[in-house]
Amino acid sequence: MNFLKDRGLKKYTVIANDQIAPGVYLLKYNRDFSFVPGQVVAIALHSSDNPRMYSIASGMQDEHIRILYDVRPKGELTPPLSQAKPGDTIFASGPSGNFFGTAGPSTWIASGTGIAPFISMWRSGLRKDKILIHGGRFLHSFYFENEFKNELGDNFVRCCSQEKAEGIYHGRLTKWLLEQENLPPDRKYYLCGSAEMVVDTRDILIEKNIPYENILAEIYF
Ligand SMILES: Cc1cc2nc3c(=O)[nH]c(=O)nc-3n(C[C@H](O)[C@H](O)[C@H](O)COP(=O)(O)OP(=O)(O)OC[C@H]3O[C@@H](n4cnc5c(N)ncnc54)[C@H](O)[C@@H]3O)c2cc1C
Repeated sequence: MNFLKDRGLKKYTVIANDQIAPGVYLLKYNRDFSFVPGQVVAIALHSSDNPRMYSIASGMQDEHIRILYDVRPKGELTPPLSQAKPGDTIFASGPSGNFFGTAGPSTWIASGTGIAPFISMWRSGLRKDKILIHGGRFLHSFYFENEFKNELGDNFVRCCSQEKAEGIYHGRLTKWLLEQENLPPDRKYYLCGSAEMVVDTRDILIEKNIPYENILAEIYF
């Protein structure tokens, strides 16, 4: 029995694995497949390990697969993964999932590394009529903010719960959403991040008359 084949994992080579903010890394590895923005891959360091899921943070045309991840100090994968060096081998699956970005009007709502699928959608050219709400604990939590800032302007809202700065909303993104009086119901709302954020946000959106079918969610558990 081909164990690796059965688990759908293949060997890939690490191209880079850089710390881009305290405890947050951007892993790049070679690419041999196409994907739809919003899809995920499973990653493991050894073929016998239980893989973990990660959103692809690359654009469809990018040369490499990029993964944005934060280190969970007691986690099984992310502490050793953060030590991976260029040239090392990792094991990864092909793309899966159906949290697909679309060309139509959309509000993207992310907490922490939950920004990853929206980086993929944005870099893949899904830019028209988009609003991005990103929640983070610190000012350094708005990964890749420069890629969004100029083009999105006021349609890019950063909500920082633990630090203050001009132009950044102070508080959780759920608090910002609660303060909005007229959230348009006729667009898609994409939610990505922790279970707590996704559940709380979904409840707020429904309370604010966003039709359930316009709410799509990806939970990082
Ligand atoms: C569809 C999907 C997409 C995802 N995409 C991303 C992504 O793009 N980026 C990203 O960063 N994450 C993503 N995740 C989460 C990711 O899959 C992992 O769950 C995460 O990286 C933690 O993996 P780990 O092996 O380091 O931690 P795990 O070993 O799985 O541990 C999970 C949590 O339990 C805690 N824990 C474990 N053991 C103990 C213990 N003995 N005592 C106390 N606490 C403990 C850890 O600190 C950690 O917080 C995604 C998840 C899903 C389901």
